[in-house]
Amino acid sequence: MDANREARETASKLPLDVLSQNLDGTVVAPAEAVVAPGDTDVTPDDAYAEARRVWNGMINEYPVAIAYCESVGDVLASVSFARERDLTVVVRSGGHSVSGSSVVSGGFVVDCSKMEWVRVDPDERVARVGPGATWGTLDRATQSFGLATPGGVVSDTGVAGLTLGGGTGYLSPKHGFTADNLCEVDVVTGRGERVTANADRNEDLFWAARGGGTPGVVTAFEFDLHPLDHDVCYFETWLPAEGAAPALAEYRRYQRDAPDESCVSPYFARVPADSWFPDDRRGEGALVLSGVYTGDPSEGRLEFDQFCDRSDSFAESFETMAYTELQSMMDAEFPAGRRYYWKSVPLAELDDDAIGALRGAAENAPSDLSTIVVWPMHGAVGRYPDSSSPIVGRDADVVVNVEAAWDDPTATAENVAWVREVCRRFRSSTSIDGTLPNFAGGTESDAVDVYASNAERLRAIRDRHDPDDVFLYERT
Ligand SMILES: Cc1cc2nc3c(=O)[nH]c(=O)nc-3n(C[C@H](O)[C@H](O)[C@H](O)COP(=O)(O)OP(=O)(O)OC[C@H]3O[C@@H](n4cnc5c(N)ncnc54)[C@H](O)[C@@H]3O)c2cc1C
Repeated sequence: MDANREARETASKLPLDVLSQNLDGTVVAPAEAVVAPGDTDVTPDDAYAEARRVWNGMINEYPVAIAYCESVGDVLASVSFARERDLTVVVRSGGHSVSGSSVVSGGFVVDCSKMEWVRVDPDERVARVGPGATWGTLDRATQSFGLATPGGVVSDTGVAGLTLGGGTGYLSPKHGFTADNLCEVDVVTGRGERVTANADRNEDLFWAARGGGTPGVVTAFEFDLHPLDHDVCYFETWLPAEGAAPALAEYRRYQRDAPDESCVSPYFARVPADSWFPDDRRGEGALVLSGVYTGDPSEGRLEFDQFCDRSDSFAESFETMAYTELQSMMDAEFPAGRRYYWKSVPLAELDDDAIGALRGAAENAPSDLSTIVVWPMHGAVGRYPDSSSPIVGRDADVVVNVEAAWDDPTATAENVAWVREVCRRFRSSTSIDGTLPNFAGGTESDAVDVYASNAERLRAIRDRHDPDDVFLYERT
């Protein structure tokens, strides 16, 4: 039976109307289920189609129901409803899981997107955050007090999934992963219990939440905040791909002593059809040197001198801007509905072999929209021991993110194969185990053991708090 029909049949046998009456929020299910879509202008079919959609257009799953929770009570009722009926639960907040882990055919989606609130305590320098908040919401709230916590680089990504998968961003060299700045979570566990976890209570759950996901639904996060009451600097310099080897060797030298305020992440891309670029470069392969300086903006230009105004560049910019502007600058590059497939490999060193392989891989990308990003791992991220959280590989020099993006549905196989092949090549030569959970990719046969030496400890925590396997643990 196909997944759509199966979901309809299962849903029609569930008392979803009873669940719906017990929630502040709404329940959406395939048309046969007796559920009001909330908005009377929307047909049940349209409501279901919308509710099962996630950011990645490649994902096409048919859950039996989606419970839009608006309160902790809604989460408790939804988890208990699913538990009692042996339904597998997946949790969705920002819906930006690249592998589509927040929606699954035959499963029950606990959607937290409506629980979008942020409370900042500027004196204590902490923010309490609802699971439905996006980075845009959180950054705007903290910046109004001249404060920030390290977050992702696209503002509509969810705080919840990003934090539970580690979280890297421009402030990470200075303050660590997002998860390193987490100080407390409230969780509805797989046992159906509501608990608070921090350094002193339910320490195992707290440890897991710092990058290892959680055996339950997080209904509140608390983060440490740091002063950031000035503008930040951003540069990008586009070079022909032929010049990549010497430029990345220079980057390697720079990176060895880079200050914590600097976050330079070069990437390979094809030159887009944009009037900013010379006509004769469009569609050509390029290495983009790009970076952010989060320290005193008057020092930014000097810091990035060697990357700007290069004789071999064909387009460059250097700007000073508000942190919130920086944090949403990339949004348009990642539209919802496009097809995406991403994986990553940490490298102990960005040596000459790796640089050559990166250039070759970029040249072979089947889609003009794909990129390969070299993400720096210096500074604070490496100062936390591997035991401090489930995330391993903090001693990597850089992480290579291979990010395929394409629109043509018939081009899926070749794009997926490209990412897997590039990662297989890097994986065979790297000495670093695991990878950043947020960029781990799907769960195919070549999926890596993301948590490596921490995997067993994480599994034991999941077993303790979710002994009946209520939740599905595919990561990002
Ligand atoms: C455009 C884009 C940009 C990105 N940029 C970055 C970046 O700069 N840095 C970075 O580190 N990552 C980045 N990522 C990866 C991103 O962090 C992950 O995809 C993350 O899972 C997205 O979180 P979400 O809440 O939007 O996702 P969802 O799809 O809602 O959730 C993903 C998973 O997180 C878990 N989860 C979500 N909410 C809860 C909850 N309330 N309780 C328990 N578990 C929950 C579930 O396991 C779920 O399957 C980016 C992704 C995209 C698509």
